[in-house]
This record gives sequence, C-alpha cells and structure tokens, in this order.
Amino acid sequence: MNLEDCKKCRHHIELRSYQVLCNYGGSLSSMATMQDEKTGEYRVLACPLYLKGK
Ligand code: SF4
Repeated sequence: MNLEDCKKCRHHIELRSYQVLCNYGGSLSSMATMQDEKTGEYRVLACPLYLKGK
C-alpha cells in the first residue's frame, strides 16, 4: 500500500515517525513503512486491506 493512498484511507489515524496508526478491524495497530529504492515512495508494510487483496 502506497503511503499517500494510506493517508486517504478511512482507517488512517495518523503518521508518526513513519509508523502508520491504523484502526482497521476496530483495534489500533502501528504499521511500519518502507521506502521503495526505485521510486523513493513510501509503502506501508502489512496493510490489512492489501493483505486481503482489495
Ligand atoms: S494501513 Fe491499510 S488499512 Fe490501515 S490506514 Fe493504511 S491503507 Fe488503511
């Protein structure tokens, strides 16, 4: 999941030190992000929406 898209997601709470706070599924989780070496864009690792294939 691209970080810019994650910021627009209704589950997004905030971005803090490149950790996304996400309330997907009713509980608050902290997701690590990683910078793509090629594009320089940040990606959210282990986004539950992404993992479900949506
Ligand atoms: S990690 Fe995934 S589910 Fe959570 S706010 Fe970001 S895009 Fe939405």
